[in-house]
Amino acid sequence: MTIGQSHQGPGGDRGPLAKGLYFIATPIGAARDITLRALDILGAADVLAAEDTRTLRHLMEIHGIPLGGRPLVAYHDHNGDAARPRLIAALKDGKSVVYASEAGTPLIADPGFQLARAAIAESLPLIAAPGPSAVLCALGVAGLPTDRFLFAGFLPNTTSARTRTLGDLRDVPATLVFYESPRRLARSLADMAATLGPARPAAVCRELTKRFEEVSRGTLGELAEIFASREVKGEIVVVVDRAAPEVLDADAVDRALLAALSSLSVKDAAADVARRLGVARRDVYQRALDLGGKE
Ligand code: SAM
Repeated sequence: MTIGQSHQGPGGDRGPLAKGLYFIATPIGAARDITLRALDILGAADVLAAEDTRTLRHLMEIHGIPLGGRPLVAYHDHNGDAARPRLIAALKDGKSVVYASEAGTPLIADPGFQLARAAIAESLPLIAAPGPSAVLCALGVAGLPTDRFLFAGFLPNTTSARTRTLGDLRDVPATLVFYESPRRLARSLADMAATLGPARPAAVCRELTKRFEEVSRGTLGELAEIFASREVKGEIVVVVDRAAPEVLDADAVDRALLAALSSLSVKDAAADVARRLGVARRDVYQRALDLGGKE
């Protein structure tokens, strides 16, 4: 077991930043969605690392944060193995290091996981400064239940792998959230309609927080049809409702009860059928009495 070290110091005008690796979230569109804390950390960190150094530089310029003489290191999927030791060495040297992915929250369909593991392995403090992420933004506007959701990231590229993955997700009792590319949207929606069912409510959330933000809501069947003949651009999240609970066929309950009553008491037959069919025991008990079962 490991117990994370506490950390202190917001940086910026409010004092120095404590040693540690800081993951900051950056805007997914609107530049002013950066948090004040993320700006403080960007202003005070000893070393900056970014998936895309140009994007981070630009964001800092917009918000008037000078880089000064501080190092700005590229850290992305293709150079992680080479860049990680440098960042870990800086941390071991007592420096504060901030990491930003290109947009949104690091590690959410973005680099950062291996860096986090490396910091944890060296018992270095790891601190998250939360903020924008397309998953949460889409859940906020999709109009679908948010009590439980599963973030499925990007689906696989080939139709067969995509269909297999969707099949695994079909019965998950949670709202499903997918990141999607505009080029593949129509094909994915068609596969979703075929595998998850065309009647499921869903939402296609495009260009969130940006000028051409748009949310299309409908069933998977309707959305698949609309986007089959519509060319779209931009960034996309698809949110899909969970499968509707199966409507219980009253005849199925009666058949199960009559069979159970041939060998069990009303109480035991009701308990058995309620458990097997996932219905309320009280209702089944009453039905068993109506069918002539003896208490
Ligand atoms: N780390 C990011 C986050 O926290 O959301 C996600 C990075 S992932 C490489 C990029 C994908 O996120 C896009 O292809 C799209 O599916 C989704 N995305 C990012 N920004 C978005 C936006 N403004 N509107 C809709 N989807 C967005």
